[in-house]
Amino acid sequence: MTDEEIKNEEEQKTEEAPEEEAEKVEETTPETEETPKEDSEEDSEEDSEEDSEEDEDEEEDEGLEALTGIGPATAKKLEEAGYHDAKSIATSAPGDLSAAADISEAKAKKIITLAKDKCDMGFETADKLMEKRKSIGRLTTGSEEFDKLLGGGLETQAITEAFGEFGSGKSQIAMQLAVNVQLPEDKGGLNSGCLYIDSEHTFRPERVMQMAEHMGLNPEDALKNIKVARAYSSDDQMLMAEQAEQYLQEGGIKLVIVDSLISLFRSEYVGRGALASRQQKLNRHLSTLHRLADVYNATVYITNQVMSKPDMFFGDPTKPVGGHILGHSATFRIYLRKSKGGKRIARLIDSPNLPEGEAIFKVTGDGIVDN
Ligand code: ATP
Ligand code: MG
Repeated sequence: MTDEEIKNEEEQKTEEAPEEEAEKVEETTPETEETPKEDSEEDSEEDSEEDSEEDEDEEEDEGLEALTGIGPATAKKLEEAGYHDAKSIATSAPGDLSAAADISEAKAKKIITLAKDKCDMGFETADKLMEKRKSIGRLTTGSEEFDKLLGGGLETQAITEAFGEFGSGKSQIAMQLAVNVQLPEDKGGLNSGCLYIDSEHTFRPERVMQMAEHMGLNPEDALKNIKVARAYSSDDQMLMAEQAEQYLQEGGIKLVIVDSLISLFRSEYVGRGALASRQQKLNRHLSTLHRLADVYNATVYITNQVMSKPDMFFGDPTKPVGGHILGHSATFRIYLRKSKGGKRIARLIDSPNLPEGEAIFKVTGDGIVDN
């Protein structure tokens, strides 16, 4: 059977009875494959749920088809969408997976559950979590005081969100981080490059060169280590975040920037009626970003504008435009405000393990520096 035929058959099934198919995902997959060899492979994996870790690694190496419940056509689509192993599936959102592989959400949920089983995800003892946290890297902002506020710089395996009104320094920090990530670890960098999703078209290579020069990097080389993508729509932006996975997988990238996270969503989804779908999409986008941070030990920096008169909308100046949805999604949230003479005040809000506090830094020609 050709891939095309399999695809058609799978599609037909999804249309006819998505729920039913989802329930029986394990049984229907061998049917669509119709190769006895594959069948027995699938069976033997199912039987060996409690395999040792080496075996699990082997299964991941075999590709997605080795994952129970995924047929070749679906596996191909998932591969194309950047899901290359069980872990990337296990940490994805059903909505993402369903869109990427053209399958029902119910089937996507089932596949995610199976992938989680394979990766031994679910409850994890805290000592294992501690072990994972030991590999967390730190990225300097350029200001010691600002770094201190963040417990030593931006963390990998986390999303840091900066929110504040226009001119508060969100994009300046973004460009500075894109430079700093290139520094060696003993200088506060992560010795790697950066992906920069620019949805407001405010990335300025000249500015990056100034900052690089100040940090002792060759400005031209610094530009080469930053991959910039301009997003023109929220769909564009979401796609770019998904494509980012490929680059992270190849290695050499430890920072993903989205500046700004929600401006395109805000302009496209206008009015109360659109709020639910906007937040749903934002949620998906954020879960993609979380996955990048988590799976590839990378740091994600996102920006979010608040209005200069936020009380008109929310009544609380520290509340970002994204509202609660973002509040619960970013790991670290920094509220930025302008002060006199190029000074900026950063306040850490809602951190899982750090006290709330403030730091003062400066935006100068050289970039982000101590006050
Ligand atoms: P928006 O919400 O509009 O995107 P933002 O928070 O991203 O705003 P930034 O672009 O980060 O704002 O900050 C712009 C400010 O940074 C300028 O108003 C200026 O004060 C400062 N700035 C930018 N370039 C320089 C420079 N070369 N030298 C000194 N200060 C600069
Ligand atoms: Mg900006």
